[in-house]
This record gives sequence, structure tokens and C-alpha cells, in this order.
Amino acid sequence: MNVGFIGLGIMGRPMAGHLQKGGHTLFLYDIGKLPDDLLSAGATGCASGKEVASKAEIIITMVPDTPHVQSALFGKEGVAEGLSPGKIVVDMSSISPIATKDFARRIKERGCEYLDAPVSGGDVGAKAASLTIMVGGSQQAFDKVRPLLELMGKNITLVGDNGDGQTTKVANQIIVALTIEAVGEALLFAAKAGADPAKVRAALMGGFASSRILEVHGERMIKRNFDPGFRIELHQKDLNLALQSARQLQVSLPNTANCQELFNACAANGGAAWDHSGMLRALELLAHFEIGQTTG
Ligand code: NAD
Repeated sequence: MNVGFIGLGIMGRPMAGHLQKGGHTLFLYDIGKLPDDLLSAGATGCASGKEVASKAEIIITMVPDTPHVQSALFGKEGVAEGLSPGKIVVDMSSISPIATKDFARRIKERGCEYLDAPVSGGDVGAKAASLTIMVGGSQQAFDKVRPLLELMGKNITLVGDNGDGQTTKVANQIIVALTIEAVGEALLFAAKAGADPAKVRAALMGGFASSRILEVHGERMIKRNFDPGFRIELHQKDLNLALQSARQLQVSLPNTANCQELFNACAANGGAAWDHSGMLRALELLAHFEIGQTTG
């Protein structure tokens, strides 16, 4: 298939690489530099999203946030200007579910299809082609795009209509943030009580409190390794989407708001680019105690 890929950053570059290895012909665009490895393996660099859309049948976007998707799709020389009926736009960025519905409507007006297909699994999952992909859109478009998604991910679910993929991703980010907060509180509590947090984590791993976040981020907290990974500023963006939507939907998300405040405290202390497990450091500031310090 002729596939367009727009946004070749930490996530997009390895994802596009899997499509290329799967035998697809790539047409690439990024406002920054295009990856040499993809170009030398036969991908075509394009001067605009419009050019990508005129040459590809399926156009994937993987850019940071809602305004970037808006500009890639509907800005000057954007994807919308190069579309013709029958093409499919697949936005894999994590962005606003509400804006997504509007973007989908505007793309469909051109006789095209739109899927929102954000991912979970981080740069590790992007490189390993093991991403979880949460899709919103029509069954027909999903069936056409599924072979491409299968080259990039493992757990691929059509959740519902346009916007539902992004809603699922926001739900994912709420669970991840609150679980990081819970693991951080628990390990800080245990350390201040005088127990070895590494042994506490190991003891809890088999029980009801076990989770991937206790496993991976619990270990990061104990080793004090806050190199990203997934940056706090990106998680702030996702919780902002949750809190804004909650206001529009008139639903209260009290602990999501707390987690956002803790991320804000990290950012205020120079931590916007820490890994999101660094939320622990905000809790440590409140406790005036660091995991690894002795109580005695
Ligand atoms: P990134 O900043 O590394 O890459 C984004 C790329 O998009 C950059 O190369 C940038 O130049 C390009 N870009 C920005 N605006 C553009 C435009 N208008 N037209 C063309 N190109 C444009 O970001 P990333 O880490 O790859 O994240 C991309 C998306 O995936 C985000 O929505 C993020 O929340 C989500 N995500 C990231 C991770 C992760 O661990 N990094 C995990 C899951 C989901």
C-alpha cells in the first residue's frame, strides 16, 4: 500500500519503520528533519502534508498535541488539500476526543474516512511493535487499516465511533497517573516507616496490589531513575484533556486533579522533562523525606 506518515519523532519513526519493513511504500512529512534510515530504505520525502495526501491511500499522523494535528490536517498545504474521495486519515497522536469528532466530520465531508487510533506502550512498545492501539471510527475503515496497525501493535481494539479511541487513551492516562501516585505514596510511606522499599515492592508484586506500574515505575522510584521514558509535560497534556472534558461532561475527577497538581509541582521544581514516575518527587517534597534516606 502507499502509506503517508506525518510526524516522525520518538514514536513515529520506529512505527513508520515497521510499515516499511512490512513491504509498504512510505511518503513522509515532518516540520523537522526526516529520518535518513527511512529515506535510504526507499521512503519518499514530501514537501507538505498536501503532497503526502495526494500520493498515499492511507495517511497517518503522529504529532504531539491537538493544535499540531489541526495544523497538519487543515493548515496551509495540509493533508485536507491533497485528499480525494476514498482515502483514510488515521490520527495516532494522543489528542482531544472532542476536537477529534470535529476533525473526523471535516475529513468525512471530503468523501474520506477518519480513524482516531492513539497508542499506549511508549517508545519501547513503538520499537518492539507491541503497542496497544485504541481505535474510534467505522468498522469498514478499521478493517482496511488493520493490517497496518498489526505491523505496529499487538492489542488492537475498535472501541466505537470517532472520538472513542481518544477517550480510551485519556482513560488509560487517568489510570496510569493515579497508579503512579498510589505506588509513590505506598513506597514513600514504607520507607519513612523504616522498611526497605525494594523489599516492600518485591513482597507486593505477587499480591492484589501488583501492577505493571508497581513493577516498572516502582523500580524507577527505588533506583531514582527519572530519565524519560514518558515526559511529565506530555502526561500533563493528557490530564489536561481529561480535566477539560470532565468539565464539559459535568463529571468530577478529584484524584486526576490531584495528580495534575503533583505534576505541576514537579514542573515548578525543574521536572517537566522527568519521566512521569518522577511524580514521587512531589510527594517527597511534601513529606520532607526521600526514598533511600534513613529514618534513624
Ligand atoms: P515527538 O515530539 O518526539 O514527535 C512529534 C513529531 O511531530 C516531531 O518530529 C515534530 O517535528 C512533528 N510535528 C509537529 N507538528 C507537526 C506538523 N504540524 N506537521 C508535521 N510534523 C509535525 O513526540 P512523540 O513522543 O513521538 O509523541 C507523539 C504522540 O504520541 C503524542 O501525542 C504523545 O502523547 C503520544 N505518545 C507518546 C508516547 C511516548 O512514550 N513518547 C507514548 C504513547 C503516546
